[in-house]
Amino acid sequence: MANLFTPGLELTAEKAIKLKEAGLYNLIIGVYSTNPEEHDQIRSVVGAHARALEAIRTALDAGLMVTMSCHIKSGQVDRILELYRLADELGVQELSIWEGMPRTPGEKLTLIEKEKILDIYRKINSAPSGPRIFANTYFEGQMLGCMAGRRWMHVAVDGSIRGCPYLKNSYASIKDVSLKDAWRALRHSQDFEGSVSHCPAQEIFG
Ligand code: SF4
Repeated sequence: MANLFTPGLELTAEKAIKLKEAGLYNLIIGVYSTNPEEHDQIRSVVGAHARALEAIRTALDAGLMVTMSCHIKSGQVDRILELYRLADELGVQELSIWEGMPRTPGEKLTLIEKEKILDIYRKINSAPSGPRIFANTYFEGQMLGCMAGRRWMHVAVDGSIRGCPYLKNSYASIKDVSLKDAWRALRHSQDFEGSVSHCPAQEIFG
């Protein structure tokens, strides 16, 4: 299944229909905050928040499955419920919560904060309706461990094949090889053997 991550800055109805016709499984549009100014500042683009929300509406109108995604660092767990309300209003199928990559030790989620994310994940997903929640704290924590190169791979904008967006090593270029061969190259590297219960990218970011 192919998922496409985008800030949603340039999505038009025509592009959304093309993606639908091409068989895209899920379009993932990042929304950092319910506060437009904060989102715009993180993206360094004035109006980025409004455009992301418009992209979500456009993609839903085209019949695509849409995930609104957010990145949560230490001190930001409380904003998840606000983001969930926005996701619900927009009518997306899923809100995905990713642990934001810490640039300083203080940005790293504490164990208590991770537990809070898991509580929200369980509570919302046990409700009968509303967007579902994906939380990598759950899937890449207690359930499956790091999925990079094991259950998924990432094709970056320059075509490089990586284990996940946060890991910088490239194993092939999609410009030169098929998707199947890209996956083989990744697996043959033996960089993704066994189960890893922590996030290797967070080690890099400190
Ligand atoms: S390195 Fe692994 S655990 Fe960390 S974000 Fe990537 S896939 Fe997830």
